[in-house]
Amino acid sequence: INMNAGPSPLPQDALLTAAASLLSFQGSPGMGIAEISHRSKAFADVFNEANADLRSLLEIPDNYKVLWMQGGGLTQFAATVLNLNAWYRTKHQLSAADQVEGWYAVTGSWSKKAADEATRLGVKARKVVDGKKLGGGKFRSIPPGREWDLPQLEENQRKPAFVYYCDNETVDGVEFGGQGSDTEFPFSQIDPEVPIVCDMSSNFLSRPVDVSKYGIIYAGAQKNLGPAGVTIVIVREDLLVNVDEAVQYGSAPIPSMLSYKVMADDNSLFNTPPTFAIYVCSLVLRSLLESPPLPLAASAAPLSPLSDFADKKSALLYTAIDESAGFYAGTADKGVRSRMNVTFRINGGDEDLEKDFIKQASDLGIKGVNGHRSVGGLRASIYNAVSLEGVQRLADLMRTFREKHA
Ligand code: PLP
Repeated sequence: INMNAGPSPLPQDALLTAAASLLSFQGSPGMGIAEISHRSKAFADVFNEANADLRSLLEIPDNYKVLWMQGGGLTQFAATVLNLNAWYRTKHQLSAADQVEGWYAVTGSWSKKAADEATRLGVKARKVVDGKKLGGGKFRSIPPGREWDLPQLEENQRKPAFVYYCDNETVDGVEFGGQGSDTEFPFSQIDPEVPIVCDMSSNFLSRPVDVSKYGIIYAGAQKNLGPAGVTIVIVREDLLVNVDEAVQYGSAPIPSMLSYKVMADDNSLFNTPPTFAIYVCSLVLRSLLESPPLPLAASAAPLSPLSDFADKKSALLYTAIDESAGFYAGTADKGVRSRMNVTFRINGGDEDLEKDFIKQASDLGIKGVNGHRSVGGLRASIYNAVSLEGVQRLADLMRTFREKHA
């Protein structure tokens, strides 16, 4: 039972097909999927199907492009800033002396890193939420929108180029709309002209999303979608800008590989894409569409069974935490508890007991429940491909371990 935070488990049926296709794809022995041209008809079919399946699972509106990029989430920390800086500067015909701002809701380690990257790249990152400050040095909460530090702008003041947040903080276990709650990003408080950028790397495809509320959504594949090496970017068409022309408005030159417009114009085939990773993604998407973990109700969104499944699995672990009379303590506040990464401490952070727990879990075949190296503690990552039985087994261990040690 693989509970690693990413790369993490993928549906077995998809992996079995992928493994066989390495040796022979579409009945051609000696020509595996990793050995055919990205310009071939066979790969084009895979790619078109993957795009169509992703579009139907997420119900992506027609005025959005789907880009398949490389470089993971970290590259998108930069690409979002570089592209939106170019877009904003072009739109307002700025000069190099003008400062552009992005507003960041810093609710965990990844959004903090993204804000730091914006600063490195010369865009002022204004923290409209500082989760660490609110949590007394730890990321554990997301305040309601009315408490965000959203500046009230005068008419002559420049708006931010974008507002940025991370939907699920993988390290800290903090999620918008987390387990048993409806804490949403405060869309209605953001000027509709300002694009909202969201890092959905670690809860991508775990629930329905109203894509039309966003300017950009991106996600590294290596949690719910496929192997590391491919990153999905969903971008509203009006935000695509010629980055070379933006230089006259004070934008820095941007590598072509990071330009959303270059990628969109070339249907993500500007260079050789990670063909095998894309192929595995195509199989996972097909598997999510064809065999959801729970039945899909007639009028429900295609991803609603995955959302119910995530709620059900995470509830098993949060219940084990809540009934433990403090022996286990969740590190995230109730209401923002992640349905993907359940983070907790044992006995107030007793590292010996925590090590013992990790060992016992491992002996039972439950791997990867150690917390991120920066925060310690425990973290059970229970992405789409982790079974309910696997999570139940961890919940059972939590009970027996507590009975022995509390
Ligand atoms: N954003 C989130 C939410 C993540 O969980 C991660 C990695 O785990 C990243 C960004 C960084 O992604 P990558 O390692 O693909 O650059």
